[in-house]
Amino acid sequence: MKNSLAATAGVGLLNTACANQGSKEMIRSIKPKVVSTWRHGLQANEAANEILKAGGSALDAAEKGVMVIEADPENTSVGIGGAPDRDGNVTLDACIMDHKGNAGSVSFLQHIKHPVAVARKVMEETPHVMLAGEGALRFAIDQGFEKENLLTEKSKAEWEKWRKTSDYKPVINVENHDTIGMICQDANGNLSGSCTTSGLAYKMHGRVGDSPVIGAGLYVDNDYGAAVATGMGELMLKTLGAFLVVELIRQGMSAQEACEQAIQRIVDKMPDYKDFQVGYLAMDKAGNTGAFAIHKWFNYAEMADGKNELIDSKAYLND
Ligand code: ASP
Repeated sequence: MKNSLAATAGVGLLNTACANQGSKEMIRSIKPKVVSTWRHGLQANEAANEILKAGGSALDAAEKGVMVIEADPENTSVGIGGAPDRDGNVTLDACIMDHKGNAGSVSFLQHIKHPVAVARKVMEETPHVMLAGEGALRFAIDQGFEKENLLTEKSKAEWEKWRKTSDYKPVINVENHDTIGMICQDANGNLSGSCTTSGLAYKMHGRVGDSPVIGAGLYVDNDYGAAVATGMGELMLKTLGAFLVVELIRQGMSAQEACEQAIQRIVDKMPDYKDFQVGYLAMDKAGNTGAFAIHKWFNYAEMADGKNELIDSKAYLND
């Protein structure tokens, strides 16, 4: 293992060095690359790739890519159309992190379709990292975001159906876990990431998951790699999952090994892990990707060399 780790770290350092030297030839050797969680990542990757192809930054790509999914009313776990909490309120969580280690986040934000764009404003326009609830809403409106109703007729009808039984046990199925987390690497080799969600369907009012928490739902260390998480947020919060993945890469693991170890941490610490899904997706500085989940039905979209494909992640349980 040591050799492959050294090799991975070496390639990463080489790329960084080349990018820093600014030689056109060397910079060209680093290809823009985008990965993002779940099937809707295919669409988001296209938008992010357009930006990267035009020479845009990883940060712009990571923001604009996931905004496509936030704006889709048919998507029931992100942005407008997201499933509401148990009281019928759509409350959104999102964060963003750039290659300089800057980070911005909003949690428990209502009425704003693009929480990731508000998170970027928090990062760029305030001395803070996270704004929550009413304060985040007020800040968004001050920044020119439009206040709108995010509960679509379709999500309302589903919620009303759910209310008949009000079965509160968090369910592990694809519909309830489709946060979009995205990692982009631009032509300069810089890494940025984003994460946005309406969180668990029919959660308690006020519940915040991993997605807006830097280190739980997203982490970027431009020297080594980046990671995003999806699934039952409480498990990533308790293990600081995205940070753990990146830290393991920093210590020499490949992106794949790091994702596997972060899932192993959950398995070792949480006896009821089988009841939940968690998926990690990572990219190291050299552009190698890794993904691992508790259950095998986690997938992600990878865009590289103009090819955008949906890939099934490996998993701890082969159920
Ligand atoms: N991680 C999100 C949360 O716990 C949910 C998801 O990924 O679907 O809020």
